[in-house]
Amino acid sequence: MFSSPRIAPRRATASLLVVPAALLVLAGCATAPASDTDSGARADRAHGDDPGSSWAYSGAEGPEHWGGLSDAFGTCSSGSEQSPVDLPAARHGSALDLTAGGPVTGQTADNGHTVQFTAEDGAETRIGGDALQLVQMHFHAGSEHTVDGEAAAAEFHFVHADAEGGLTVVGVLADRGGHNTAYDSYIAGATATADAARKSTVDVGAMLPESRSYSTYAGSLTTPPCSEGVRWIVLEDRVELGSDQLADLEAAHDHNARPVQPLGERTVTNDLR
Ligand SMILES: [Zn+2]
Repeated sequence: MFSSPRIAPRRATASLLVVPAALLVLAGCATAPASDTDSGARADRAHGDDPGSSWAYSGAEGPEHWGGLSDAFGTCSSGSEQSPVDLPAARHGSALDLTAGGPVTGQTADNGHTVQFTAEDGAETRIGGDALQLVQMHFHAGSEHTVDGEAAAAEFHFVHADAEGGLTVVGVLADRGGHNTAYDSYIAGATATADAARKSTVDVGAMLPESRSYSTYAGSLTTPPCSEGVRWIVLEDRVELGSDQLADLEAAHDHNARPVQPLGERTVTNDLR
């Protein structure tokens, strides 16, 4: 399984919050308490057993209340570089320099907020010259990032970590269209529970759109604890998913998307450097 050092925001300094590995494994969609520093913690912690850490996408525990649900979630309301954001219309800049190492084996299960694939063998993805490990991937429906104010049917987040634990999340928006076999193994896990996770494979290279122009900006996890220091890369082109595939995901979770956050002082560019 994933065994890097403690997960820290990409631009971490000693004074910044260190995100435990347990949260990285669940990044984006965990209910594990932030105080849980057991790097062996896995998706089986993700069912909100700790009432102090429970959150939701609507109602009294919905996104506008996350920051007050737990001391550990304060960044959700006090942060200044939060995700997702509204992105500009496609500018078709240079293609993302990404080389994936092929199919990664892991376990897929519903963690209570999304269907999450958790990588077991940490295959490498090279992005912009950096050697990263795919840690996990999951979905949101509809998309979290919007483009010119418009959401897509779904969004996939491929969560990567560098050797120091800095996070890079590659976001892929999906439209309703033709069946996409590259997503079959992952979607087959949509009905699996954490107690009976389904073995599956994720091939980042095959699951990304062919054309890889992108938007990039500095942001955060889009779920509590909303930790900042996450490098976001959202591809401009989209993939298609069949209606049956979207239905399988939406049957597991629908409306599991955080609303867009203010961009503030940040800029969205087409250049990783
Ligand atoms: Zn996500």
